[in-house]
Amino acid sequence: MYHPTRLLTFGFAIIILMMIALSYMGFQSINGGDSQLNRQVNVQLQKINLINELSTIIQNRTRFMQSMLLRDKTFIESESWPNFSRMSGAYAATRARLEPMLAARERDVMRAIDDLDKDISDLNRQVSVLFLNGSRDEASKVLLSEVLPKTAPLLAHLSELTQMQRMDVEKALLLENQDAQASRQRITLFSIIAVLISLTVTFIAIWYGRKLSRQLQDMNSYLEQKIYERTEFLLDTQKELLEDNNELTRMALTDNLTGLSNRTHMNQILHKEFSRYERHNQRFGIIMLDIDKFKLINDKYGHDAGDKVLKKLATTIASAIRSSDFVARWGGEEFLICCTTIEEEDLLPIAETIRQLVAKTPFDHNAPVTASLGCAAIVKGESISELIKRADVALYEAKNNGRNQSMVSEFTDISLAY
Ligand code: GH3
Ligand code: MG
Ligand code: MG
Repeated sequence: MYHPTRLLTFGFAIIILMMIALSYMGFQSINGGDSQLNRQVNVQLQKINLINELSTIIQNRTRFMQSMLLRDKTFIESESWPNFSRMSGAYAATRARLEPMLAARERDVMRAIDDLDKDISDLNRQVSVLFLNGSRDEASKVLLSEVLPKTAPLLAHLSELTQMQRMDVEKALLLENQDAQASRQRITLFSIIAVLISLTVTFIAIWYGRKLSRQLQDMNSYLEQKIYERTEFLLDTQKELLEDNNELTRMALTDNLTGLSNRTHMNQILHKEFSRYERHNQRFGIIMLDIDKFKLINDKYGHDAGDKVLKKLATTIASAIRSSDFVARWGGEEFLICCTTIEEEDLLPIAETIRQLVAKTPFDHNAPVTASLGCAAIVKGESISELIKRADVALYEAKNNGRNQSMVSEFTDISLAY
């Protein structure tokens, strides 16, 4: 099966070829027929002229014989005889020109004419001899009784030949007319077929075009639907990935047991605060909290009880700090609080509040829990690890001083710290 567009191209090619054929046929019927007819008519006219010439020569010859016998004024012997022989020569020349143009049936008539002409020429010669011998009466008798009766049928034959030409011309005209009519019919038929084919091809083109555009529309809406579905799917996937990612990030930054930020998250927070301090000189501080004698709790009440203590302490500390501060489980039974935008002297009161709150918090194992705290606020030229170390030293001091207390590392210059 051919592709429809190929069939359409084929159809249009046929239409164009038929149009060219129609134009050619029209051109041929106008030009070709006409020129052929013209040629034929020209030949016929030429023949008629030659036949007329022959009959004029014959008539003149007879008239010459008559005037010779009557010896009227026009007959001057010395001039007339050469004229007469010229006339005879002219007959032969005209006859020779006519010969190749004659058709077979015309040749029969022409043969009869030739025979009569030969007789008449012989008789004319006889009349001339009689006249020149002085027997004018005798000559007149031969002319009247033999030459003239033969001249009449000769002229009649010539007229018959002329008639033939006229009839031939009429026949050619008739044929031409029939030809023209036939080619008109052919052109009409061709035109009808061309119109029918072009209508069919146009119809097929329109039908096929509509079918294609319908198919394209269907395809388009199908694709749109698919794209929509895929986009929805991708958006859903992206959302899920984002959620998973957020969850992973959250998990990566959260301590499993307490739900507080873990050490990694606290390090990020400390770095942010450190940059803020460097850019805007906005001071921050840290409080390191370590549960006193936690090992004993584990040992005495079990690991689960220790875990519960860690959890409860996490919520207790989180509720005690300012909303702008952060708390993280720094490791084991240690917690680190980051106090943003703070001066050194304000750290101790916060640490003390937390310490007191911890000390009076009731626990499931029915024994008090205390904690020691070490504080330090950032100073010029100090790094994060140095700050943490100072808080750790303060915490160590608090432990050494008997635990359940808060100590602050008081330095304004890092060079004095160690
Ligand atoms: P100090 O007052 O000097 O700090 O004494 P401490 O007993 O608190 O300190 P130590 O470093 O000797 O012991 C800490 C204990 O904390 C040891 C360890 O088993 C316990 N611990 C650390 N992480 C966890 C935890 O996730 N759960 C429980 N239950 N115990 C933990
Ligand atoms: Mg410890
Ligand atoms: Mg401890």
